[in-house]
Amino acid sequence: MKLVYYCSQCNDVIDRLEVDAEEITEDKLGFSILTPGEKEDIINETEDEIEIGIICDDCEAEDDLISLVNNNLIH
Ligand SMILES: [Zn+2]
Repeated sequence: MKLVYYCSQCNDVIDRLEVDAEEITEDKLGFSILTPGEKEDIINETEDEIEIGIICDDCEAEDDLISLVNNNLIH
C-alpha cells in the first residue's frame, strides 16, 4: 500500500510512503479529527494507494504572502 501526499493547490507530489496496509488506521494518519466531508475532499483511496491532498510549502508560503498583502491593504 502506498501513501501519496500531493499538493491540492499545485498538484505536485510531495511525498510517497510505502506502508503496511494493516498498520494504517485513521487515527495514525490523523484523519479521525476530520469530518466525513473533509475526508472526502482530502483523501482519495484507490486500489493500491491512498492519495492525500495537503498544501506544499511553496503554496503555503504563497498563501501567507497573499494574506499578508491583504491584511496590509485592509489596515
Ligand atoms: Zn503546492
